[in-house]
Amino acid sequence: MNPEPPPRLLTGDTPTGKLHLGHFVGSVENRLALQHRYDCYFIIANKHAFTTRADRPADIRQSVIDIATDYLAAGIDPAKSHMFIQSEVPAIDELTFFLAMLIPFNRVMRNPTLTQEIRDKDLGDKYPFGFPMYAVGQCADILAFRPAIVPVGEDQIPHLELTREVARKFNQLYCGVDPRTEDVDNVKRGGLFPIIEPKVGRIRRLVGTGAPGPGGELLKMSKSLNNAIFLSDDADTVQKKVMRMYTDPRRLRISDPGETDPDKNPLWAFHDAFNTDAAWVAEQRDAYRNGRVGDVVIKRKLVEILNALIDPIRTRRKHFEDRPDDVMDALKQGTARAIETSEETLHLAKSAMKQDYFGRSVFLK
Ligand code: ATP
Ligand code: MG
Repeated sequence: MNPEPPPRLLTGDTPTGKLHLGHFVGSVENRLALQHRYDCYFIIANKHAFTTRADRPADIRQSVIDIATDYLAAGIDPAKSHMFIQSEVPAIDELTFFLAMLIPFNRVMRNPTLTQEIRDKDLGDKYPFGFPMYAVGQCADILAFRPAIVPVGEDQIPHLELTREVARKFNQLYCGVDPRTEDVDNVKRGGLFPIIEPKVGRIRRLVGTGAPGPGGELLKMSKSLNNAIFLSDDADTVQKKVMRMYTDPRRLRISDPGETDPDKNPLWAFHDAFNTDAAWVAEQRDAYRNGRVGDVVIKRKLVEILNALIDPIRTRRKHFEDRPDDVMDALKQGTARAIETSEETLHLAKSAMKQDYFGRSVFLK
């Protein structure tokens, strides 16, 4: 008898730049830990990148390659995990259309991540029709793989909630699942789609290297906010970014050290996230609060820690940068596998919806 196939994991990134430390602690770290136990799918969501940069297709293409290289450099094993290009997997689009019929438009627009993105990226009311569509598309990105687990950062939780709602609705409408059924029992009771719990990383939201936003809170590290340390940064760049990192200006008033607040200081958020010596952090944070130690010492230590983390990634990155064909091959293999899995889901979805008229196959050449 064949053993049970391992459960599936799905997660991914939008190719709007390179991977940074926020991605690492928010999601990549979980992927590395889980890739041996799960059948992993990593989507590079290139169509979603078009929501804000339809005029820059060459940048999106470059970023697809950069992110694939970052995955491999971080230690994703292409023999185990399938990284794939969203726009080459047609079942996702087809599912998007059907799922869009199950979600009220106003419900999509109430998604707080969408509203915040409109605000942060200054999209006003000029965003394209495809912008709210991407929130529905993301439900299809996930459900096309019927994963058991979706590791994401905190900002993705509202998207996951929408995915859960649409999955319940589909199961009730087309698979005869009783609306009172518990989420965990949906598949057992005949539902096609699992109702997925998000798995948030060790650090839910890593802050960036910059000053607090207008509301006084530290901003999330993000590709688009110029506050990121990238997995592809060289040692010098990491050093410069850390040495220039924002620290509470009141920190300089050593005469009144009681006023300094380590929680307003990204430096400590970084030590909490990356420094494994918790006793050192606690002791130094205390000394810092009392004005007995300055920024420079704490920053130097952080440079050392970050470079030790990124060094092996740099070595592997160099290996793959010298072998672009290997990166493309890994993408092609992963995409072929993603097509296979998502076609199976689409077939099951269409047959639940009584729209399975003909058989078909999709292949990459
Ligand atoms: P953009 O600025 O283009 O929105 P981003 O930096 O937010 O890019 P995404 O591609 O939107 O990156 O996010 C990919 C994954 O990484 C998501 O699961 C997201 O929650 C997670 N993530 C991104 N930034 C952080 C962060 N600073 N801390 C923790 N997780 C993060
Ligand atoms: Mg984002």
